[in-house]
Formats: sequence, C-alpha cells, structure tokens
Amino acid sequence: MSNKVHLGHTARKRFGQNFLTDHNVINRIVGAISPDNDHVMVEIGPGLAALTEPVANAIDKLTVVELDKDLVARLQEHPTLKDKLDIHQGDALQFDFSQLVEEGRQMKVFGNLPYNISTPLMFHLFEFAEQIENMHFMLQKEVVLRLSASPGTKAYGRLTVMAQYHCQVMPVLEVPPGSFTPPPKVDSAVVRLVPYKVKPWPCKDVDQLRHLTTTAFNMRRKTLRNNLKHMISDEEFAQLGIDATLRPEQITVEQYVAMANFVVDKQ
Ligand code: SAM
Repeated sequence: MSNKVHLGHTARKRFGQNFLTDHNVINRIVGAISPDNDHVMVEIGPGLAALTEPVANAIDKLTVVELDKDLVARLQEHPTLKDKLDIHQGDALQFDFSQLVEEGRQMKVFGNLPYNISTPLMFHLFEFAEQIENMHFMLQKEVVLRLSASPGTKAYGRLTVMAQYHCQVMPVLEVPPGSFTPPPKVDSAVVRLVPYKVKPWPCKDVDQLRHLTTTAFNMRRKTLRNNLKHMISDEEFAQLGIDATLRPEQITVEQYVAMANFVVDKQ
C-alpha cells in the first residue's frame, strides 16, 4: 500500500515527514504530555494530526506551527479541529515562541520533530526556556541518548551540556520504525525536557557557554588543554580546579559553566 493511499497525503521527505500511526504509542505520548488548559499548549509539526487530535480533544485551544502549506490547509478544513486550533504556517526554527505566552500561563511544547532540524530547533527553544513548563519530543533514539548522557560516555557532547544546562532530561519511551508511515530508517524515542525554574549552575553568558562547548568538543580525542588553550591557560585551569589533561567528554556541566563564567569575568 502506498503512503498516499494509506494517509491521503504523500509524505514529503524534505519536510522530514514520518507520520505516527501506532495508537498505543500515540496514547502513551499524549499521556506523557498530559494536556491541560493551565498552559499554552504548542505543537510543532502537527502533520496529519496524530497527536493534535487527541491533545485538542482534551483541552480548549491548541497552537500549532506547521511548515507544509498542504497540511496547514487540511487542518484549516478539519471538521472537529479547525475551531480549536490556532494555526501558524511557517518554519518553527524562525518562530518567535514568546509571542504565544500569556500572563500567568507558561507553554508546554511538544512534537514529533522532523529529524533533520531537531537539534537546531531544540537550541532555538532553549532561548525561550524561561517561558516553557516542559517539552516532549519524538527524536532519533541516538539524539535522546545524547541529551541524557552522563560525563565519561561516548554520547556525552555539546548537545548534552547545553540541554542539561537548561533542562532536566528524562527519556520517556522508545519507538520502533514500524510505528510510523513511512517508517524512518532509525529507531526513535520520546524525551521530556523540563527547563529549570532555578538553574543549578547559573551561567553569566549562555553565548559564551555555547562557544566554549563547541570549541571544547571540536576535537573529542584531544585534551581539554589542547582544545581550549587559546581561552584558558594551565594556571587558570589549576585555579578552577579542573584537570586539563582530561578529554572534553569527562568534564561535567557544572565545570563547563565554571569555565564559561571564568572567561566572561576575564573579558
Ligand atoms: N506530528 C505528526 C505525526 O506525529 O504524525 C507529523 C510528524 S512529522 C515527523 C514532522 C512534521 O513537521 C511534518 O508535518 C512536517 O511537515 C513538519 N515540519 C517539517 N519541518 C518543519 C519546520 N521547519 N517547522 C514546522 N514544521 C515542520
């Protein structure tokens, strides 16, 4: 059976379209999202409404951001959804999520994300972290492992440090390719990201933290000293109490923040 016959829409590869069709998985994700009217509920990439419909059924209003104009047109004409949805056609990467926040109501953001934009999209959403209660995303399983990794493991990297700086990260559910139409080539997983209300390790300049982690993880096989030598000297590493002979994946989030704050103070 072709995708078109099955879905009534031809899945577009360039928009990362793999539609959820497994009702058991859909129910479990909606349970994890736990939709309510006390938050501004926001879905990224509603597609054919696999998650949109059960979430919208549970609440008064749902905001969606969808890039594909054909899918937007379908949602606008949807008999039961059209009155409940606040539809924004456009690129979620460029979308100003702060415009959705209302007095006293933070956002809950969720989506089965197009895998080609998932990392930049999470970085974009971290900029609105203070206005977000939680986020639930379907991602490549490998990305969920990176988000939730511990120091000293292969999966630990720049994405781990930046995600765990902003959020508590909890893997929720693994999802096999057969739960989607068409099936993706990789395993997927759902993750819950809860932005800290009070950051455990506050950073004076997040741009500096981003720059420092990018530089530190540039060459994973090299030592911290080697990767950061133009930013932090041996004496300064000693002052910070950080062993500069370690590899970047052996350094904790707290230590990355301490280094970033040190560089900010020095400037
Ligand atoms: N939520 C649906 C589901 O679970 O079946 C669709 C998921 S599909 C993996 C990703 C959806 O994101 C598609 O509807 C696609 O058109 C949309 N999309 C792709 N790139 C986007 C972007 N940059 N901004 C907003 N939506 C995007």
